[in-house]
Amino acid sequence: MSSLLVADSKLQMSWQTDLLLKKRKNGLPLGFKNLGNTCYLNAVLQCLTYTPPLANFCLQLQHSAFCESLAQQDKKSDCPFCLLEKRIVRSLSVDLTLDTPGKIIGGLKIFAEHFRLGRQEDAHEFLRYVIDACHTTCLRLKKLQQQRHKLVSNGRGDGFSGSSVVKEIFGGALQSQVKCLACGNESNKVDEIMDISIDVLTSNSLKEAFQNFFKPETLDGNNKYKCESCK
Ligand SMILES: [Zn+2]
Ligand SMILES: [Zn+2]
Repeated sequence: MSSLLVADSKLQMSWQTDLLLKKRKNGLPLGFKNLGNTCYLNAVLQCLTYTPPLANFCLQLQHSAFCESLAQQDKKSDCPFCLLEKRIVRSLSVDLTLDTPGKIIGGLKIFAEHFRLGRQEDAHEFLRYVIDACHTTCLRLKKLQQQRHKLVSNGRGDGFSGSSVVKEIFGGALQSQVKCLACGNESNKVDEIMDISIDVLTSNSLKEAFQNFFKPETLDGNNKYKCESCK
């Protein structure tokens, strides 16, 4: 892989407090007004704003600097990651107690095409759309950078990497294992994930919810699994 493709510098996982305004460092987080069924959107924006590696990345304008260097200026207002970056920077730098995420609401369709303003929507679904939109944008920009580089150098194309800063922050791999209770044979399947859905209603803590999520279950009845090893 070419080092030219690495547009994202190393992630900073803890808060870079020098990037934060004093008020935001010590005071309460900036609140969002509910503009009629926008609580799902507000909740997602607050979660993303308080995800330190993403916030640090945005506060340093790392996405928009890269985006501007590649994209056509007139397209910039359509970029989901630019919108999100602006929003996060504003939330972590303005000296206010309450704000309205107007640009995100106005650009709702850039993130999730079928979402309707004023309608109650699902927070988890919206989060998925925002993460996907930003990830796709990063890949598109990387591809664009690669194409330009090839045009200039006329060199051999490097392998296209499917990684992005979004995937670095939210991405992971989930391994499901089926173990045969008769012969002990293990069958593993690995899926790439950007999130995990845990049951918070039946758990008292995040730890407990994760423990429930990873709890082994016995497959029986219709769920029974045919072992490749002992049949
Ligand atoms: Zn952008
Ligand atoms: Zn078996």
